[in-house]
Amino acid sequence: MGNGRALQILHLYPELLNLYGDSGNILVLRKRLEWRRLGCTVREVHMGERASLTDIDLVFIGGGSDREQRIVCDELQRQRSELAAFVEDGGVLLAVCGGYQLLGHSYLMGNEEVRGLSLVDLYTDRGSPRLIGNVVVGSRIAPQPIVGYENHGGRTHLGAGVEPLGRVLFGHGNDGESGQEGCLYRNVVGTYVHGPLLPKNPGVADWLISRALERRGDASELEPLDDTEELAANGAMCKRLL
Ligand code: GLN
Repeated sequence: MGNGRALQILHLYPELLNLYGDSGNILVLRKRLEWRRLGCTVREVHMGERASLTDIDLVFIGGGSDREQRIVCDELQRQRSELAAFVEDGGVLLAVCGGYQLLGHSYLMGNEEVRGLSLVDLYTDRGSPRLIGNVVVGSRIAPQPIVGYENHGGRTHLGAGVEPLGRVLFGHGNDGESGQEGCLYRNVVGTYVHGPLLPKNPGVADWLISRALERRGDASELEPLDDTEELAANGAMCKRLL
């Protein structure tokens, strides 16, 4: 493998941003790397700590309630330039729901507009009712539809040059109207899909891992894994909802 170094994963504010099992995404990445004998190190960043992005291959930000988002957003602001440089350098970043909203320019929380990281050209305002329920998304990054669960008051709008992660096949997605779900920008995936996202969507996990290895100069194909259970879970949801 590339330079033989284990993949370095950075998990931002796990104690605050962890709705609907979002931290399970880290377990999936860890296991899929272990099963392929690639290995990884997960570093958590907590409130008051500064995230060093040197040597980091993949950053994960989970979802949170408005209250929790409010708490982390100033903290994230202080690390904006490092995160922006990481993204522009092709760093892999997965952000779910509240974390996804914070990637954009702003997030309207009640009457207060919270500044986002402006890592991706998007913004989020609010709507009523909350968009809640199962969701299925067709995306070019995964061979199977992406399945999961969404629950958000925010409505996210993508800038003209930003690709959605995919098309909504069931559920609401970014705003309940556009048919778009999530965002795809360089190696950044933003999405409203909780569940957590990765256990039932191994194609997404492998897309993230492949991009991270590629960025390090390892272009070899990922060794296939036996995804019978994962694909059965994914297939059951698609069958039920589509
Ligand atoms: N607080 C945000 C909203 O309601 C995000 C919620 C979440 O992460 N599920 O839109």
